[in-house]
Amino acid sequence: MTAPIAPITQDVLTIPRKLPEGGKQNLVGLTRDQLRDTLIAAGTPERQANMRVGQVWQWIYHWGVRDFAQMTNLAKDYRSLLADNFVVDLPELVTRQISADGTRKYLVRIAGGHEVEVVYIPEETRGTLCISSQVGCTLTCSFCHTGTQKLVRNLTAGEIVGQVMLARDDLGEWPVPGAPKDETRRISNVVLMGMGEPLYNFENVRDAMKVVMDGEGLSLSRRRITLSTSGIVPEIARAAEEIGCLLAVSFHATTDAVRDKLVPVNKKWNIETLLNTLRDYPRLSNSERITFEYVMLKGVNDTDADAKRLVKLIQGIPAKINLIPFNEWPGAPYERSDWERIEAFADIVYKAGYASPIRTPRGEDIMAACGQLKSATERSRKSRAEIAAEAGL
Ligand code: SAH
Ligand code: SF4
Repeated sequence: MTAPIAPITQDVLTIPRKLPEGGKQNLVGLTRDQLRDTLIAAGTPERQANMRVGQVWQWIYHWGVRDFAQMTNLAKDYRSLLADNFVVDLPELVTRQISADGTRKYLVRIAGGHEVEVVYIPEETRGTLCISSQVGCTLTCSFCHTGTQKLVRNLTAGEIVGQVMLARDDLGEWPVPGAPKDETRRISNVVLMGMGEPLYNFENVRDAMKVVMDGEGLSLSRRRITLSTSGIVPEIARAAEEIGCLLAVSFHATTDAVRDKLVPVNKKWNIETLLNTLRDYPRLSNSERITFEYVMLKGVNDTDADAKRLVKLIQGIPAKINLIPFNEWPGAPYERSDWERIEAFADIVYKAGYASPIRTPRGEDIMAACGQLKSATERSRKSRAEIAAEAGL
């Protein structure tokens, strides 16, 4: 519990919900309760409020409708009341790049002109959308491209949900009225593994996930959502209680000395503290194992001794170990471990009784792989020297 870590002040970092188009409020990202209050404040009679919430919700999140005029089961007067007060507004899609392997990377612009990246990864049996929770990051993990960019601000709940909706637009995934129900979903999973530390934007991430998980809208089950954290100990149990999704932890090292350098927040909550918290994770069970992410850095954290220490450390925690071959970015101070090394490491972990999948890098040609995201246009960035100094390299 040493070292000064940049203080996190939610108030400063979070902008108020944006009021686009002549001060009209955006409905995207409001939880059901917030939507109810908002509709009542605009003149919806209280006795109708629950019904109206259900109707508007279904139009926005099930059908993907943005124009109140198309919400045809609402009376005309009520449609005009909505149109006079509200908008259904998404962040702006700036560019879309498609990798040779089918991975799509979207650059998305949010209020204030800031940009974040969103990645869609199609696989044979599922499609995963990797979304961002912050512009930049307060943390400075030395192997992560986002960590070289200062935190600009937290995303609002609407901006987080908006990323899922934008991707659905692009993938043509909204249901067509009257068409037979399509059971295959192009976005079957969502991972909070893009830019930012989701647990440092807790309320907005929680509210956004509530919207995404709601059964009458986007309807992704909580077990298809994975939140990845660098290890913000005080928020971990809260995530289980208030969000209830699956958890991944960026572990990456088996001694505090090495983890301090790779994931500097370790100086605040070290390996032992983190593991104790994970042991108490309220939802822990064999069917809801915690994923330990482990980036493979040549000569830094990839020896047999590391693998053995790792399995010893996590003993008793239902877990799987996701090995991530390091993805390079311009100026990165590390190299990817050799393939044989990664396999030898995986083998030790596997023989100790843990699943140890090696994550196939996807979308490398468009810089969409894990840890490569960074909005190129952001001016507020750290120099190479600053990154190296912070990492103690
Ligand atoms: N901020 C969250 C989510 C981030 S990214 C977190 O740190 O957990 C998802 C995963 O990619 C994390 O485990 C992160 O440590 C890892 N990662 C970051 N940079 C990487 C890189 N260059 N190569 C491979 N993995 C990387
Ligand atoms: Fe931030 Fe996660 Fe990157 Fe660390 S790995 S700098 S917590 S985005």
